[in-house]
Amino acid sequence: MNPIIQAHQLQKHFGNNHVLKDIDFSIQKGEVVSVIGPSGSGKSTFLRCINQLETIDGGYITVNGEIVGYRRQGNKLYHLSDREIAVQRQAVGMVFQRFNLFPHKTVLANVIEGPVVVQRRPVAECKAEAMALLETVGLAEKASAYPAQLSGGQQQRVAIARSLAMKPDAMLFDEPTSALDPELVGEVLGVMKTLASMGTTMIVVTHEIGFCREVANRVVFMDQGRIVEEGSPDDILKFPKNPRVKAFVSAVL
Ligand code: ADP
Ligand code: MG
Repeated sequence: MNPIIQAHQLQKHFGNNHVLKDIDFSIQKGEVVSVIGPSGSGKSTFLRCINQLETIDGGYITVNGEIVGYRRQGNKLYHLSDREIAVQRQAVGMVFQRFNLFPHKTVLANVIEGPVVVQRRPVAECKAEAMALLETVGLAEKASAYPAQLSGGQQQRVAIARSLAMKPDAMLFDEPTSALDPELVGEVLGVMKTLASMGTTMIVVTHEIGFCREVANRVVFMDQGRIVEEGSPDDILKFPKNPRVKAFVSAVL
């Protein structure tokens, strides 16, 4: 089976700082992969490269078999235009630590914004789908509320629904619960667990080891710009081989 997302020998620098080194990675349809590792190890940059929020300096990334940022014509590759990049980026949804909802729009208006304005789909159809998504994240009754009237956990669940409304083939989560008060973390992880059980392809950068253990099919450990170990949650969390993984896991468990 072809992977939904694949990275091959990915390299990324910020000036002299080589932040992603020889990253080889792939995720199959329906898989949930958790990415863990110390702060500054390159986890966010990796997700941002997949979603073309950063350019890459070497190697390549494919989404649904298409090389990200390029169009193939014959055996030549051409850079995509900004407009083409915008279309390609719709294949992957991203949820950030901070949920940037439009404050002056209702929950429903936030969720239908992308499908209506960007994808130019019929409003009635988008509304019906948005209501179903709000049902999935447990917020159908908040459809006409404004973001400021919601808790942080509720806002993040709306942000997840908004991202799903674009019908992406995969979802990237970058520490989606780390800006939340502790009592609100569970409701967001619960929604992510539901998405996983619905077969959503997900890459989840998280410090929530419980989520990795219960929900992830595979855990990837990054350190200093490299994937240093990957395996099943048991492999990585119970029986890590790499000493840096051992030290990290024993510190967070
Ligand atoms: P993580 O998400 O694992 O904490 P990041 O991907 O945010 O790590 O950062 C990896 C490295 O890249 C760090 O050294 C960080 O300082 C650097 N970095 C990240 N974003 C930028 C940027 N926009 N400009 C310069 N350096 C950056
Ligand atoms: Mg980060």
